[in-house]
Amino acid sequence: MKNDCLFCAIAAGEIPSSKVYEDELCYAFYDIAPQAPVHFLVIPKDHIGSVAEVDGQNSAVVAHIFEVIARVARELGLESYRVVSNIGEQAGQSVHHLHFHVLSGRDMTWPPG
Ligand code: 5GP
Ligand code: ZN
Repeated sequence: MKNDCLFCAIAAGEIPSSKVYEDELCYAFYDIAPQAPVHFLVIPKDHIGSVAEVDGQNSAVVAHIFEVIARVARELGLESYRVVSNIGEQAGQSVHHLHFHVLSGRDMTWPPG
């Protein structure tokens, strides 16, 4: 757990959140400022700064997270959804702990803004 990391604290249950799913490797919770009718985040419990820090040592959790996204989306009955991860300031990353946004329930434009 990284000091002063908001999502490490959320994964540890030190800061309350609305849980969608949890297992030993990852935690999923609803975004506090939803950008779609369904908007949740999936994070590894161990601190990784962003996709840019994924490497041969820690990539297994990313595969696991995508399995979880598929399963949770199925359980929530989502037929269409978008998975997004922002990396760095220009792309809009505001929390520096790896997270995948799952957005669903409205029409979406492409390319994203
Ligand atoms: P980013 O901007 O880094 O791609 O995504 C960070 C996301 O975390 C944003 O969508 C923001 O609304 C969400 N967020 C920030 N602080 C909190 C919080 O304390 N609780 C929850 N549930 N979501 C948060
Ligand atoms: Zn963290």
